[in-house]
Amino acid sequence: MPTNREAAPFRPLLLSKPHSKVVLEAEPVPADEESRSQFVRHLFLHSPLGLDYQPKHIKQSPRNRHAATYIGRSYPHPYQLEIDNYTYPPTVYTHAEPIKYHPFESTTATWVDTEEALDEMLQELKKADVIAVDLEHHDARSYIGIVCLMQISTRDRDWIVDTLKPWRRKLQCLNEVFTDPSIVKVLHGAHMDSIWLQRDLGLYLVGLFDTHHASRALGYQGGSYAFLLQKFTGVQAQKQYQTADWRIRPLPKELVDYARSDTHYLMYIYDNMRNDLIERSDFGVPNHEKDKVHDVCERSKEYALQRYEHPIYDLETGSGPGGWYKLLSRTPANFTKQQFAVFRSLHQWRDEAAREQDDSINYIMPNHLLFTIARASPTTRAELLSTAQPATQTIRLRTDELVATIARAKKEGESGPEMLELLAQIDPHHFKKAVEKAAAERASTFEGVATYLPNKQAQKAAPTNGILPHMDLPLRSASSMFWGAAQQQQQKRPESNVPDVQLSVPLPPLTAEVFAEAPTAPTHEQLVSRSSPDPPAPEAEEDVDDTFILKQLGNIGKKRKHAAAADEADTMATQSDIVALTSADKAKADRKKAKKDAKRAASVHKSANDMVDVDGEEAEEEAYDYSTAPSVLNPPKMTREEMKAKQKKVVDPYKKSMDAPKGLARGQRERAGRSRTFKS
Ligand code: AMP
Ligand code: MN
Ligand code: ZN
Repeated sequence: MPTNREAAPFRPLLLSKPHSKVVLEAEPVPADEESRSQFVRHLFLHSPLGLDYQPKHIKQSPRNRHAATYIGRSYPHPYQLEIDNYTYPPTVYTHAEPIKYHPFESTTATWVDTEEALDEMLQELKKADVIAVDLEHHDARSYIGIVCLMQISTRDRDWIVDTLKPWRRKLQCLNEVFTDPSIVKVLHGAHMDSIWLQRDLGLYLVGLFDTHHASRALGYQGGSYAFLLQKFTGVQAQKQYQTADWRIRPLPKELVDYARSDTHYLMYIYDNMRNDLIERSDFGVPNHEKDKVHDVCERSKEYALQRYEHPIYDLETGSGPGGWYKLLSRTPANFTKQQFAVFRSLHQWRDEAAREQDDSINYIMPNHLLFTIARASPTTRAELLSTAQPATQTIRLRTDELVATIARAKKEGESGPEMLELLAQIDPHHFKKAVEKAAAERASTFEGVATYLPNKQAQKAAPTNGILPHMDLPLRSASSMFWGAAQQQQQKRPESNVPDVQLSVPLPPLTAEVFAEAPTAPTHEQLVSRSSPDPPAPEAEEDVDDTFILKQLGNIGKKRKHAAAADEADTMATQSDIVALTSADKAKADRKKAKKDAKRAASVHKSANDMVDVDGEEAEEEAYDYSTAPSVLNPPKMTREEMKAKQKKVVDPYKKSMDAPKGLARGQRERAGRSRTFKS
């Protein structure tokens, strides 16, 4: 009975390991990097690759350490070594005439919803030297999310696999192709696909070529699939279907076509981009310095090396992809202690509510409301409801609970940590500059934060050499140094086999001197210098009464394309960040779409043609083009980690595990209003 509260390390689903160079590990190994590194070496001693293998350098960034301790123990990526040591086939480096796709209209997709059809497809795929793969996913009304569809194309055929079948785990047999080093797997923006594949289906990618990375390496104007499709084929992607409810069966023809078009043209696009990469590379320069193909391949490997972990909520340091730290660290906010406490408290409340209701956190409360409410810290129902605009249905239903949560946090915040100081403890590298600046500004009136440190003795013993040491924070401590016992009880965190890490290193005294003397580091100045206005709130929602329908249908146009910009992004936060940035018009269009989706939900039993009628309006309406969303066209150029990795020319196989987006085998709880189609 899987739930969304798993606390043990995520155990890879795959039962066998095709194309294996080292055996599949049956037990979790310590997650700290030194042990992992040794473990990898050990494995290779016993592998056909032998002693020559040197594990890739593993970065010791504070955040990696933080991430590692967060899990304690975890299973290694089953294909880590195979991917680490993978060399792409010569075809990837060979300029060749692009092979044209078959006309879309004269071909159809084969629907794979039986094991026989699966086997037939598998046999075909084994003959290919390149295939295209894509997934469709549902997560609006699910805490974890679920893969609904897998599209696979060869040069000659398209398949659409129903991944909601009770035998979905049997799809593991596709590892015979997906991990076959001689077959190139072309995906576009596989950041999430890589995670979803392993989470739901136990599938891994050896030989991934990501066309999104190719687009970035080539400096194209756009990085979205729609952009590339237009550029190389002139075909207009019907991206309005992107956020359809992919759980619907039978799948309407429009959706089948849309899904198929995501892989049908992809190998042709790949051919063109590969040629372009080759043309614009200089293979004579040492260290792949000017080798754009290599560049794309290494980045693709990073995607393939991401490791899924169960999302465990960490109140104290906000770690993990769904943690408050990540959200706060990239959203300029200048909270007071109390606001900061309220923010964390709301964040935790939202996570808890989402798990309880099996909804996305975004559905419970979008990010911009977390910030708005924290800033206002309302103490009455009326205040809260006028602050939280537009209030989600959950906010309305659980107002009292929220008010109580805010009040408690406000009180605790009085003696809690300053925002910047806690952030700096969690990641000194990232926040030192901001803290320095804040400290300098407050130097004269600085009261210090020693009040919240639990152990005065420890403070005295702590180093004061001016360097803020990396803190091994008590990630699983029994009592909270920041929150006290009351909050801790609220967490209701399930028992896990992760050992309690007690505070072995005392917290340093966070005095002005510490910050003033700290060596320079990358800045995060906007944190203190910006006045951090709240993002504009979309208009009030009109659909609050459609509980049942929304629940069933979900994925209602409230989301924005993130995959292309996903290098650094975690799903939920990014989506709602962007939502917050969209204009009221877009919000309106979204609501309109939501209504139509709801109508569609009510007519799932209708034929595909009827669906068109239901959607009739849509033709007149300019569908919002996700491909032009700011996050897609202007993705962060490169994350700092990527930059460093690039300089060092290494792939850090562990890096992505905790930065990876959350999501796991969907909670299988059944309740009224919930479809029963999706048990596995
Ligand atoms: P794609 O690779 O574009 O077909 O997208 C795969 C899945 O990612 C979709 O089925 C959605 O679940 C999710 N997704 C893609 N784009 C968006 C978006 N703009 N907003 C929310 N979810 C999205
Ligand atoms: Mn995709
Ligand atoms: Zn797709």
